[in-house]
Amino acid sequence: MIDYQSRLNHEIQAIKPSGIRRFFDIANEMKDVISLSIGEPDFSTPWHVRQTGIQTLEEGKTFYSPNRGFQELREEICRWIARKYHVSYDSSSDVLVTVGGSEALDLCIRCLINPGEEVLIPEPSFVCYVPMTQMAKGIPVVIETRAEDQFRLTADALRQKITPKSKLLILPFPNNPTGAVMRREHLEAIAEVVREHDLLVLSDEIYGELTYGETGHVCFAELEGMKERTVVVNGFSKTYAMTGWRLGYAIGPQEIIGPMTKLHQYAIMSAPTMAQYAAIEALRNGDEDIDHMREQYDMRRRLIVDTFNSIGMPCFEPEGAFYVFPSIQKTGMTSETFCERLLHEEHVAVIPGNAFGDCGEGFIRVSYSYSLHHITEALKRIERFIQSLG
Ligand code: PMP
Repeated sequence: MIDYQSRLNHEIQAIKPSGIRRFFDIANEMKDVISLSIGEPDFSTPWHVRQTGIQTLEEGKTFYSPNRGFQELREEICRWIARKYHVSYDSSSDVLVTVGGSEALDLCIRCLINPGEEVLIPEPSFVCYVPMTQMAKGIPVVIETRAEDQFRLTADALRQKITPKSKLLILPFPNNPTGAVMRREHLEAIAEVVREHDLLVLSDEIYGELTYGETGHVCFAELEGMKERTVVVNGFSKTYAMTGWRLGYAIGPQEIIGPMTKLHQYAIMSAPTMAQYAAIEALRNGDEDIDHMREQYDMRRRLIVDTFNSIGMPCFEPEGAFYVFPSIQKTGMTSETFCERLLHEEHVAVIPGNAFGDCGEGFIRVSYSYSLHHITEALKRIERFIQSLG
């Protein structure tokens, strides 16, 4: 018998499995479960984008692309960023097309972090930043964001966590799971601290096009002096409902994108060719699709926030992504107990807030990337559950 445990890499053994998975697994085994747990659009990829993918296959374009991604796609990405967020990049050196935003995040952390260097990570946030940092032998330093601050990162909270070993700040906004967004003035305050302490920034803007309200998303690299300090990660999964195509990108200083490309070349080679052609079509002709999906999400968002607040589950109004993060503190249960009981008693699946960091305890993540009909039924059951608690 081989003792695999002793032979595995220690870092990977120390990493905890994602708390999101566990609830999916339980829910999948039960019948009649209505889920508000998933983190991907319920829309299919817009038809004209799918058609481009199909056509690519029909024409036999089934080969590797250049390591960085097709030049035509990188040009479209630069045009899109300039048009939406007013930052200009050089398509030949500043962009790397990756297998989802996920790969871009991993490459960036691995290329920047030496053993023992600290990565500042606001939480609650997406589950990958801490394990990716650990795999790079960096030290994750968690910064708690709070409901009172609408889950925004404040300059004060950031300052308190800075040490001489701080190197990289992750900015996960619009945020998964809280839906928090940072307005320009909030980002300006963060930029001042970044300048003061000579930090680099990894800005995960995968939900940038899904913001609600007047002002829209501000790209961190737009702010004075931040372009040269920031790697922006974005992608097609959320913006164009293209999760299964596995396409994202990193854009930033060529001195960082270059080494990321080297790593990508050895580990991945190139992102999927068919997906890259489809992405060119999405960037060129997909604005209306984004507007349509955003309108739908916004309608659901308002319904869900109002309902939670009216049934005694205080819920701040999130302005981005497609999640709400209501408090369950009044019930006296832990997030996990709440979710387990809701699943068993009413067959509704949501995710415990502590899956996104310890400070998410006392909250649940509820996704509204579902039809109104589906959401209405789930909310009815949640209300009945809350009433049954007396
Ligand atoms: N960042 C955030 C905040 C996410 O929620 C996700 C996916 N849930 C990703 C990055 C990765 O997305 P993808 O790899 O599909 O581009």
